[in-house]
Formats: sequence, structure tokens, C-alpha cells
Amino acid sequence: MAWISSGDTNEELVNNMQKRGLIRSDVVAEAMKRVDRANYVRLKGYAYDDAPQTIGHGATISAPHMHAHASEYLLPWIHPDAHILDVGSGSGYTVAVFHHLIKTTSSARTKGTVTPSAISPGKVVGIEHIRALVDWSVGNLKSDGLGGALDKGEIVMVTGDGRKGWAAGAPYDVIHVGAAAPEIPQALIDMLKAPGRMFIPVGPDGGDQDIWTVDKDAEGNVKKTRLFGVRYVPLTDEATQTGSRY
Ligand code: SAH
Repeated sequence: MAWISSGDTNEELVNNMQKRGLIRSDVVAEAMKRVDRANYVRLKGYAYDDAPQTIGHGATISAPHMHAHASEYLLPWIHPDAHILDVGSGSGYTVAVFHHLIKTTSSARTKGTVTPSAISPGKVVGIEHIRALVDWSVGNLKSDGLGGALDKGEIVMVTGDGRKGWAAGAPYDVIHVGAAAPEIPQALIDMLKAPGRMFIPVGPDGGDQDIWTVDKDAEGNVKKTRLFGVRYVPLTDEATQTGSRY
């Protein structure tokens, strides 16, 4: 059904999602226009379909409207010096969108009086457990013009078990999880800043899964909210994933 948002170009895809209300804010539309999805998929001819696509190793790049939903739910917590953790970074696509959201919120704030990079110590960390995907995603980010951001440490791509988070960059204003966890990992809740928000699919592999937000308020109180049903690849260990049916 969401396929009707597909476009012939990246810009058309984003415009169609905006027209159908899948993207509500201009900041998200702007960031998604800056990320050319063709740089993050294997089948370039289907880059601008609003559909998930396999990226090998049992992984999938989510449909653009899912990336739009995640961005919309996380946007209020994204600011020029935000630290963002993207768990299961796969193709690198969501890392790129979050990078541009940090930059867009900072340029909106300074209205061109200061260059965004000069005032934006924000950082996006992508953590992915399949090394081959990490290497591929770094190439994808470079193809998409983000080699400089990698060099400056504004984007950091890590190989590791995302269920444990990445302590070196914690605490995080925002944690996005791109694979379904059987339950919300406590390590990720612990690494969330107060205040901060996590967006995470939760549920069994191949079963009923839902997106949850986990909000930590300024006092450190945690509130979990179930949003809507989804189907994601599992947040699991490497052997289980690569030996799976995908
Ligand atoms: N946001 C990514 C999602 C990729 S699919 C994109 O749209 O491209 C989910 C990813 O989670 C896969 O790449 C998979 O390899 C990764 N993954 C699964 N379990 C993981 C774990 N325990 N630690 C880190 N990454 C994991």
C-alpha cells in the first residue's frame, strides 16, 4: 500500500511521502532529500520504491516511510549537539539521515550567521555486527558525500553487538534501533540521556512486533509507549542472523 509513494527520483519519493502525510515536517523532508537512497541499496533500479530491500547477510534496508516515521518521532530530541546511536546501521542510510537532521537543526538555529559545522559538535554513531556491512556502509556514506563527516568524527561507524550499545559515545539523546529486539535491552535504556528518546521495534523474530518509544525524562524516569505494528529483521547474534532464512 505504501508503495504508492514511490518515485522516479529521490526527490520525487520524498515529495510523494510528504504529500501522503508520511512525512509531516519540512526538516525531515529536507534531510531525506539530502540522502540519495541509490547510494544505500544493492538494486539501484528500485532505489526510489517505498519498499524494503535486501542488502545481503540477512539484513534489509527498511522502506523509506519507516525511516520517515522514525525521524519524525525522534526529531524533537535532535539538536545541534545531539549524540545519536543507530543500532543495526546496516546500509548506513539512517546514519546519513540523522547526520543531516543534526546539521539542518543547527543551520535553522543559526540562520546562516555561523557555519553549522563550527557550532555543531553533534555526532552520529552507527553500530552494526556484520563487518562486511559496516565496510559497505562506510563506502555508501562516502559515495553520498559524507566522507568529510567521517573524517571529522561527526559520523562514527563501529563493528559490534548493538544490544550492548557503545559506551564510548554515551549518553545518547537519541537511540534508533533498526532491528526487532525480543525485549528492550537494558544497556540501551541505561545509555539514554536524561532527557532522551529511543525508537525500537520489539517482538519475536517473524512474529508480532511493535515500535516502542522509550522516553527518559530529565529526572531519569523511564516511560515506554507502544506505537504501531511492524516487521523487522531480528536484533540477534551474528551466527543466528547469517544462518537464517534471509
Ligand atoms: N537502518 C538499517 C537497518 C538494517 S536491517 C537500514 O535501513 O539499512 C537491521 C540491521 O541490524 C542489519 O544490518 C543487521 O545486521 C543488524 N543487526 C542485527 N542484530 C544486531 C546486533 N546484535 N548488533 C548490531 N547490529 C545488528
